[in-house]
Amino acid sequence: MTIIENPEIQANLIPILKTVSDPEIPVLSVLDLGVIREAVEKNGIVHIKLTPTYSGCPAMDVIGDDLKTAFSEIGKKTEVKLVLSPAWSTDWISEEGLKKMEKYGIARPLSESHDKDVLLGNKKMVKCPQCGSTNTHLVSQFGSTACKALFKCDDCQEPFDYFKCLK
Ligand SMILES: [Zn+2]
Repeated sequence: MTIIENPEIQANLIPILKTVSDPEIPVLSVLDLGVIREAVEKNGIVHIKLTPTYSGCPAMDVIGDDLKTAFSEIGKKTEVKLVLSPAWSTDWISEEGLKKMEKYGIARPLSESHDKDVLLGNKKMVKCPQCGSTNTHLVSQFGSTACKALFKCDDCQEPFDYFKCLK
């Protein structure tokens, strides 16, 4: 179990952070995703500490640039630092973020032990984001990106992505 340290985020920076989204799941802001460890303004510069999601996820470079752009639009300079430890986990995604993800059509990550079972096709536990049925099956370990697996619902017949669990 990952212990989530409370990120230090200055309240006045939150509205700007909310405008920066995950390039892969645009409905999720960086705050929903839980990748911001720190956002503090010191001497006119916004210092941001960012923890990457999946290692090698190219989205992080994009997020770093998007943060700089968002703050430069309100005339603020930004310094973005990557913090690799503790490693990001799907536990850091906020409940609001998980709900947005489901509405967007991506099934939310299950717990670690269940994750292995569903990715091996042993258990039917992944909930279809379209109709809510758990009568679903694994089509491919890899969905639209390496971070997701492709599932198909046996009730409504819709294919959908499952966001893999990561601890
Ligand atoms: Zn369905």
